[in-house]
Amino acid sequence: MKAPQKLSESLLHGGSTPTREEITETIEHGIFALIGEHSHEQVSLWFDSASGYRGIIAIHSTVLGPSLGGTRYWEYANDNEALIDVLRLSRGMTYKAAVAGLNLGGGKSVIMRNSHEGDREALFRAHGRHVASLGGRYITAEDVGTNPEDMEFIRAETEHVVGLAGGSGDPSPVTAFGVYRGMLACAKVAYDKDDVSGKTVTVQGCGHVGYHLCKHLHEDGAQLIVTDIDDAKVKCVVDEFGAKAVSTDEIYAQEADIFAPCALGAVINDKTLELLKVDIVAGAANNQLGEERHGDALHQRGIIYAPDYVINSGGLINVNAEVEGWDLERSHDKAAEIYDTILRILQIAADQGIPTYRAADRLAEERIAEAKKRQRA
Ligand code: NAD
Repeated sequence: MKAPQKLSESLLHGGSTPTREEITETIEHGIFALIGEHSHEQVSLWFDSASGYRGIIAIHSTVLGPSLGGTRYWEYANDNEALIDVLRLSRGMTYKAAVAGLNLGGGKSVIMRNSHEGDREALFRAHGRHVASLGGRYITAEDVGTNPEDMEFIRAETEHVVGLAGGSGDPSPVTAFGVYRGMLACAKVAYDKDDVSGKTVTVQGCGHVGYHLCKHLHEDGAQLIVTDIDDAKVKCVVDEFGAKAVSTDEIYAQEADIFAPCALGAVINDKTLELLKVDIVAGAANNQLGEERHGDALHQRGIIYAPDYVINSGGLINVNAEVEGWDLERSHDKAAEIYDTILRILQIAADQGIPTYRAADRLAEERIAEAKKRQRA
């Protein structure tokens, strides 16, 4: 049985909460149809009555290595919503690790948050036992709703956790460096130059990644136009890097060469597409395309789009350092390779006449298929 098309599409790229129809369709088509649709290897459900822990771990693929992906702690409307979320997030991790050239597979976990906050240690230790039960096929890390202290609780039960205090640390500088490198690759194709000097870059979000990205761009000689809902963060980049500040609504319509979304998902949508005058969209935010068709629209308009999960893979590279025992320099070198990966994706897109987000998926699928072939040989 084929799971519904709508669900298929949303599984990889969608960042939004599943719709009521998607959930109804899940129930109708059955859990195994859903798991089978994108060939997830394993889904584990665990209940701990003492702590009230209800967790799902989805392992999409271990072809390239142990699956790695964060633990999301979230209040879901029901079990199906949690299941759909963990399935799509884990599949996304497989693709992200594959294009980043890491020896990691894709996995993810969710803990269903109860309306009343219980004993956090008991909850995350239960999750640790769940992770431990998979014997290293899944390695967890921080994600939305969790923090380094939660990872310490998990660590009390299993070694298969990264992102601990004193571990690889804040991933943002490595992520920002990777975004900068990916942006340079786009500039190479658009302007045939290896820097962004003299170019105007709009940066949406001056948080952890946005700040470091602004620093690289300023040092490279780019003019910056920035926005953030937090005035203090805007002031920082205005004072330090001579950026011009605009309101959050004004950022899209600026006369600029490059747009770097570093705040929110779904910022490439019907409304913003009409406003954008840039040549390149290259930023850190996850799930930048409202829907896949917005990636098609960028392609049709000749705007170069650096696929989000490729250009922001510095965060995964940083956490992978903990798995591999890399130092910061090695992580930086790996993040620098995002330049070559984006160039390759832009080339595939040009050769095959397809949007870049599809080219990125093909690159990931090729790497996984080759690894599978080697395993069979
Ligand atoms: P952050 O929370 O430090 O920064 C986000 C900034 O966006 C904040 O300063 C916030 O005030 C601002 N913001 C929120 N709503 C806004 C709006 N409507 N308009 C303008 N600004 C707004 O987060 P971060 O770690 O810098 O991550 C930025 C993005 O990159 C997120 O989407 C994140 O998922 C993604 N990402 C981050 C990493 C990483 O290493 N931190 C890795 C991969 C992807």
